[in-house]
Parts: sequence; C-alpha cells; structure tokens
Amino acid sequence: MSVLLKVVKEMIIDLTMELSEKTPVYPGDPKIEIKEWTDVEKDGYQMNTLFLGEHSGTHVDAPAHFIPGGRTIDEMPLEKFIGKGIVIDVSQLDRNIEPSEMLRVAEIVLFYTGGKAIYLSEEGARYLIDLRVKAVGIDNSTIGDFKTHKVLLSNEISIFENLTNLENLIGKEFTFIGVPLKIKNGSGSPVRAFAIIKEK
Ligand SMILES: [Zn+2]
Repeated sequence: MSVLLKVVKEMIIDLTMELSEKTPVYPGDPKIEIKEWTDVEKDGYQMNTLFLGEHSGTHVDAPAHFIPGGRTIDEMPLEKFIGKGIVIDVSQLDRNIEPSEMLRVAEIVLFYTGGKAIYLSEEGARYLIDLRVKAVGIDNSTIGDFKTHKVLLSNEISIFENLTNLENLIGKEFTFIGVPLKIKNGSGSPVRAFAIIKEK
C-alpha cells in the first residue's frame, strides 16, 4: 500500500524597506538618525539609538493619525495587522485607483504601483469600507490624500505605506503580517511586513 504525502512548503517574502539614514522620508517628516550609543570593542556591547518619525520606512497608520480622538497604535487589536492578502496590480493605470480595480479583494488589499504616482481615490477607499476589508497597503509613501486617509482611518482600516516587493505576490494567495510597535499614544509605527505563501 502506498501512502501519498502532500508536502506543503511555505515561502516568506519580506515586504519591508531597510531603515537607515538613507531611507527616504515623506516631505516635512524628520530625517532618520541612527547613532552609535555603545561600541562592542570599547564598551563590551554594541547598541544604537534611533531618532525617527512614527511614519518612517514601511509603516502602518493608526486612526489617531488623522482622526481627533481616534484609536492610537497601542490600542489597535493585532487582528488588524494580520490576514489573507491580495495584491492588485495597478501599475498600468494613468489615474488613481477606483472601485473598478477591485474585482477581487481579500481581508487585506495591497496595491502594486511599481513606484508610479498612483494613489487610492476617496471613492476607492469608500468601496473598500463597504467590502469590509481589515487593512490596505501600497508601495508608495502615501495611500492617498487627506480625504482618502480620513475615510479609511475613521473606519479603523489600518493603512500600510512604503511596502516593497509586492510584484512577487501578484496572482498569489498569501497571509500578510505587518505588526507595529506598541507605542503609547502612537499615531503609527514602523512595521516588519511580510507575506507567507503556501506553495502546493
Ligand atoms: Zn503614514
């Protein structure tokens, strides 16, 4: 009697920008500073200090970023940062992202722009609220204008910005994870974002 073994392999794709003093920041945001605090040769152990805005590199926005009295990052449930994901390729668009791009969605919807200045429209954001997604993300420094942010954040949709490597996830089924630091009263936080793909 033969036993057929089905091997399911998992692959992890890192979706996170490196955090360094060279990481570009949004216009007007503080420049990232990483300074040596102690040195392993001199002090016996190495440690750096970080100076950075909460919205540096790959990060997530909490409602408090735009909504007065909105939930801060430490108050957001972890469920908001983990879920079944989909990448929608919008890199060929010559306008912003509208509901017509969202023929298929998942708990977490990520937009691949390929670095083009393409953003989620206010209408697109409203459509995602109706579809009850948990979170949205983009490979741009911002998901859209103030109005788009307010629509999403007033509905407690987490917004992931400055994601990378999304092109590797087009057409794939995956679990997205992007967990923030528990910053007291934080308006957002850098995250380590990644996708787990099950290969059959
Ligand atoms: Zn942000």
